[in-house]
Amino acid sequence: MARTFTATLQPLDTTIPDPALIVLIGAAGSGKSTFASTWAPSQVLELDAFRAMVSDEAGDQAATADAVAALRTVLEARLTRKKTTVVDATHCERAVRAGLVQAARRHGVPTVSVLMGTPVSLCVIRQTARTSDRAVPADTVRAQHTAAVTAFPGLRGEGFDHVVFADQLHRLEPLLQRASDARRADLGWDGNPGLGPLLLVRRVFGDAVLPLWRWVEGSTLAGGDRVAEITLGADRLQLALRTDIDGEGDYGFDLLTACPVDDECTAPAWTPAHSVTTLLDALTGALNDTDTVCTVHGDDQDDQDDDLEDLAAPYADAVHA
Ligand code: GDP
Ligand code: MG
Repeated sequence: MARTFTATLQPLDTTIPDPALIVLIGAAGSGKSTFASTWAPSQVLELDAFRAMVSDEAGDQAATADAVAALRTVLEARLTRKKTTVVDATHCERAVRAGLVQAARRHGVPTVSVLMGTPVSLCVIRQTARTSDRAVPADTVRAQHTAAVTAFPGLRGEGFDHVVFADQLHRLEPLLQRASDARRADLGWDGNPGLGPLLLVRRVFGDAVLPLWRWVEGSTLAGGDRVAEITLGADRLQLALRTDIDGEGDYGFDLLTACPVDDECTAPAWTPAHSVTTLLDALTGALNDTDTVCTVHGDDQDDQDDDLEDLAAPYADAVHA
């Protein structure tokens, strides 16, 4: 148990037992979700996420009752298993806190309230960075902040086994530990195969396409360069890994697409795929094909140049005649 004493001899409790029910208390924008992200995602029950689960809108206040019911069902299942759980909601109402303390007690799980110490002015300013459906009005934020501060002296009396301040806790280490573990696993430094060339795939296209990605061994489609495909249901995108872009030795991907010059042409045409947006544009027909090069017809620009040359010759003849 870690206890230190401030100058006023108030004991400062920083204990978080395991298992524990950890109840974050703070206004919107006080940093609850940021703090909660230092625990594993499966350990965090965020009310906004439950609102989104039942209504598709994290900020839909009309969905609160259903969201709370769903959250409490999951919490009950976790407490039954004696799993450490963080509940991420404002918890400014005493009755809400009392319900959580009772639930934990029924299962013999210790309770910890974590008070966010963020100044109300900062909580209000942080709302401006949010989308309008997530931003909480300043008056509401101020009321929440007052309620949280007022609740503090009574939290032990409400039955919390530990009352701690977020700004007294060291939570950067578990956050970095999980990030480091994930990175080491990606790189194969933990003894597993790791992502290998998929690291580049993820950097260019993001996480979403990784499970859909497959290297096509032995394909001659891309002139000897490595070929891959992204498949899902009826959809299929084919790509080539280029290892010497612009003669600079840079790595990148080309996406197989239609010839920009001749609608009838069936030869492979390649367009640089710089991000997942290129893939989307190709699927929706919104691809800008100025950079597309057909293996037979070249690019559209060449074609225009050819056209200009075609025009230029008789023009030159006329001038010099
Ligand atoms: P909540 O409404 O209480 O869940 O607040 P959030 O966790 O969403 O915090 C709002 C924003 O404030 C975050 O997106 C961060 O940019 C910032 N923030 C919150 N807590 C911290 C913190 O402890 N450190 C830093 N550097 N930024 C924070
Ligand atoms: Mg939050």
